[in-house]
Amino acid sequence: MKTVEQHVRDVLGLIAPPEPTEVDLLQAHGTVLAEAVVSPVSLPGFDNASMDGYAVHAADLSAATADDPVRLPVIADIAAGDGSPVAVPPGMCARIMTGAPVPTGADAVVPVEWTDGGTTTARFDRPVKGGNAVRCAGDDVREGAEVLRPGVRVGAGEMGVLASVGRRSVSVFPRPRVVVLSTGEELVEPGRPLGPGQIWESNSFMLAAAALDAGCEVHRHGFVGDDAATVLDTLEGLLMRADLLITSGGVSMGAYDVVKEVLTQQGTVDFTQVAMQPGKPQGFGTFGPDGTPILTLPGNPVSAFVSFQVFVQPVLRRLRGLDPRPLPTTRATLTSPVTSPPGRRSFLRGVLTEPAHGADVRPTVAPAVRQGSHQLSALADADALVVVPEDVTELRAGAAVEVMRLPEG
Ligand code: AMP
Ligand code: MG
Repeated sequence: MKTVEQHVRDVLGLIAPPEPTEVDLLQAHGTVLAEAVVSPVSLPGFDNASMDGYAVHAADLSAATADDPVRLPVIADIAAGDGSPVAVPPGMCARIMTGAPVPTGADAVVPVEWTDGGTTTARFDRPVKGGNAVRCAGDDVREGAEVLRPGVRVGAGEMGVLASVGRRSVSVFPRPRVVVLSTGEELVEPGRPLGPGQIWESNSFMLAAAALDAGCEVHRHGFVGDDAATVLDTLEGLLMRADLLITSGGVSMGAYDVVKEVLTQQGTVDFTQVAMQPGKPQGFGTFGPDGTPILTLPGNPVSAFVSFQVFVQPVLRRLRGLDPRPLPTTRATLTSPVTSPPGRRSFLRGVLTEPAHGADVRPTVAPAVRQGSHQLSALADADALVVVPEDVTELRAGAAVEVMRLPEG
C-alpha cells in the first residue's frame, strides 16, 4: 500500500497549472488573480471633504470663540461630483458636502455641527486646525502602487479595490470545471421511490457541494449503473465539460467494480491502495484525447468524503491557481478514546471545540460515535477529521492528536 503523501504527490503530478483569462469584474468573484493590479491613479484622486460643512481658510477662524464668533460670507455650494473649479478667497467660505472637492485656497473643512448652518453667511464659534476633515489626494493609494498581488482570491474586499482603481476586467485563473459522476446499480435519484435493495444516491450531491465550496464550477451528472459500456459512454460525453472528472464507486475488489474495469482497459488510470481508513481503494489518471485528469473515489459515502478532503482538495487548489497545500491542521485533545488499524492512517470524523478566548490550552475534539465508512449521519456535524498515524492503534481520552479542519462551506 502507498502512503497518503505519496498518493497526494502522484495525483498532483497530473495536474497542470491553469491558464489565466481576462474576465469581467463580477465574474472574478471567487477566482484567483493572475496579475498584479496596479492603480493608474492616486486615491483619493483629489483633496475632498470628509464631512458636510464649510471649506475655510483655517487662519480666518484662529480667534473665533463662543463669545466672539467669526462670520464669513458663503460664496458657493459644492456638492459631491461637482467638477466646476471654485476658489475661496481669504475671509470667505463655501458650503461643502462629503466627497466634494475642496476648493482652491481653502485648507480646512468645518463640520456643519460646529456652525449655525447658514447659507448666506455662516457663524463659527471655535478655531479649526489646518487640514481638518480633508481627505488628501493619494492618502489611500499612490498612483502606480500595487494594490493587489497575483495569487490573491477575489472576495468582497478585493472586488471593491479592483473597482475603486477603475478595473472593469481582470486577469484571473477561472474556476475549474468539475464533473461528478457516481456509479452503482443500486442507486436511485432522491425524490424517487426505492425498490428492494436500492438506496438513494448521495455521493454526487455531497461531492458537488464540496467542489462548489472549494470555488469550482460543478456539473453533477448524477449516476449510472454498473454497466461498462454505459460508464465509458457517459464519461466520454462529459469530457467537454470537465477540467477534472470525479467518480465515486466501482473501484474496489468486487465483481461489478465497473469504473476500475473500464478505466483499466484505457491504460491511463492507475488503481492503487492507499494506507488509510476510510478510503483505501483509489484511482487516478487521465481520460480522453486531451488527457483530462480523473480521480476515482471509493463508493462508501464516508470514504468518498474523506478522499475528497485529502486528495481532491489539493488538486482543486492547484487547478484554481493556488499552492496545492492540504487542508490546515491543528493539535487537539481527544475527549474519548479511539482505535485505528495498524499500518493505516485513520481519518475519523470529529467535532472541534476551540478553547475559550485567550485560554492557553489546546482545542478539544470529540470523535463521532459511528465511524463506519457507510455511516454517513455524523458527517453533518463533523467539522474536523482526527488523524491517527499509521503506527498508532489506540489513543486514550486526553491524548494530543492532529486534526484536519474541514472547510466551512
Ligand atoms: P462501491 O465502492 O461501488 O463498491 O460502493 C461501496 C458502498 O457504497 C456500497 O454500499 C454502495 O451502495 C455505496 N455507494 C456507492 N455509491 C454510492 C452513492 N453514489 N451514494 C450512496 N452510496 C453509494
Ligand atoms: Mg458500486
